[in-house]
Amino acid sequence: MKKVLIANRGEIAVRIIRACHELKLKTVAIFAKEDELSVHRFKADEAYLVGAGKRPIEAYLDMDDIIRIAKKTSADAIHPGYGFLAENEQFAQKCQDAGITFIGPKVDHLKIFGDKIKAKDAAVAAGLHTIPGSDKPVGSVAEVQAFAHQHGYPIMIKAALGGGGRGMRIINSDQEVQESFNRARSEAKQSFGDDELYVEKYLKNPKHIEVQILADQHGNVIHLFERDCSVQRRHQKVIEFAPSIVLSSQRRQEICQAAVRLMKSVAYQNAGTVEFLVTPDDFYFIEVNPRVQVEHTVTEMITEIDIVQAQILIADGKDLHHDLEIPEQKEIAYHGYAIQCRVTTEDPENNFMPDTGKIETYRSPGGFGVRLDGGNAYAGAVITPYFDSLLVKACVMSRTFTGAVKKMNRVLDEFIIRGVKTNIPFMKKVINHPKFIAGQAHTTFIDSTPELFE
Ligand code: ADP
Repeated sequence: MKKVLIANRGEIAVRIIRACHELKLKTVAIFAKEDELSVHRFKADEAYLVGAGKRPIEAYLDMDDIIRIAKKTSADAIHPGYGFLAENEQFAQKCQDAGITFIGPKVDHLKIFGDKIKAKDAAVAAGLHTIPGSDKPVGSVAEVQAFAHQHGYPIMIKAALGGGGRGMRIINSDQEVQESFNRARSEAKQSFGDDELYVEKYLKNPKHIEVQILADQHGNVIHLFERDCSVQRRHQKVIEFAPSIVLSSQRRQEICQAAVRLMKSVAYQNAGTVEFLVTPDDFYFIEVNPRVQVEHTVTEMITEIDIVQAQILIADGKDLHHDLEIPEQKEIAYHGYAIQCRVTTEDPENNFMPDTGKIETYRSPGGFGVRLDGGNAYAGAVITPYFDSLLVKACVMSRTFTGAVKKMNRVLDEFIIRGVKTNIPFMKKVINHPKFIAGQAHTTFIDSTPELFE
């Protein structure tokens, strides 16, 4: 592998370009017209307009144009990042057909894990616990009600192809099923191109714990411990940290081993994350994300293993232990605590509406134990309404969790961003809340804590 095309934008494109350059690989960026001045294109060795004439997001989804650029520039691999085409099996197949390495898992893995029902089936087959659910698509109001009568309300209706915290509804009664079912179906069709729905029991106050996996082409599968991503707003992650501060070491072992077992059972390759909901008595598989995740950073900080470099080397056929020099599982250690805050250009005083405009002033924090992964985070950058509102990921690392919280407070205070609104004031309230500091924040913490919004 000599040259990598990065089929993404923003912070993750920059992150991947950096990993490539450290590995002495050349890089090709693509950019939509609206991203003409975006940082990622200037960081790469070459950059090309993609999807000319298309709308901004569609430009980055223009598979044939991306393959065309890869061929034209003799790129021998494509890294899809997260979002956009990262989990698109058709795109992975097109790369393969064009003789280009797709830096991610095999097409078959994307097929299994792109569909939450198939993913659950794989988890059950590997002996993992799943949340009691319909286990197959539900086709009518009566079927959903029958499930609820058996298991009790509340239940959750989910789109089989849903993602990004969307396509899920909590349902509390027969009447709500009646009111919501058809709407959920048409929304699933509209958002994910498929109206398949399934139901499961709604767990009250679980924690979201996920395990980072690396798997090479030689059958080596390792985990890099867990992340706690329970701090969510409307099922979307806001703050993540590693390791969890409430898991016992026995429970940690069980969860990490379950994740490895599942990934081994499907002969998984490349980086992936196995997600669980954890209650005081048990832990339940929810899904696999077959790609790099936004919050991979905190795992890198506690294990000192570069996950994006690992993805690239694995895709190039390298062995985790011999080539990447990652020790055997029992020798892999982690140190300290890392926390990530997703700084977005959203206005917490206006229901988190994305804010746009020119960043007039930008001063970023720094110092010991601080890591920033930004895209267009600089004075003069123009934040457009077309893309995700993630501006910069602020990560800190400290020997203790309370030390990390203190450092994050300092980091958030040190940012000076004028011209666009950000969610920084909101995140400060979250990280200073006693529940967060005690590691007791559950997935419903933000949505059920009104004082955070005062
Ligand atoms: P997505 O793919 O959209 O991210 P996930 O299946 O990963 O969806 O779920 C996202 C979040 O939704 C979880 O972290 C959790 O907060 C909530 N959630 C999902 N399923 C359930 C459930 N059965 N009970 C309670 N909360 C759930």
